[in-house]
Amino acid sequence: MPPKMSKLEEKAIKLLLKYENRGLLQSELWHKLGVTSREGSRIAIKLEKKGVVKRVKEFAKDRWTRRLVPLIKQVTLEPIKGAPCPSCIYNNVCGKQGTVSPNTCLWIEEWVTSSTSSKSLEKT
Ligand code: SF4
Repeated sequence: MPPKMSKLEEKAIKLLLKYENRGLLQSELWHKLGVTSREGSRIAIKLEKKGVVKRVKEFAKDRWTRRLVPLIKQVTLEPIKGAPCPSCIYNNVCGKQGTVSPNTCLWIEEWVTSSTSSKSLEKT
């Protein structure tokens, strides 16, 4: 379960996710959020304690500061787009404990086969 966040923390992490790989300097984030450095530092410390960012010491613009690097990634539903399971009539009874097994499902097999073959075509 994701950690509970304030509106400002959510806004900060949404901004940081746009800079997923490199992160942002604290001052850049405060500027984008429109908060004071004091408020911003509190947000950064809270996000670090919640395990969603790491604060990396960095020398930038003639002084030591911190770079905030997100430890979480944006989730995309693209890989499961078009999967038959969400609309399947057997969805409630399919699975390990269910009466229907995905191991023998022709619909899922067909979807996996077609999606992997279309990805192969995209790469060529
Ligand atoms: S694996 Fe097959 S039977 Fe199970 S929910 Fe998906 S489409 Fe339905």
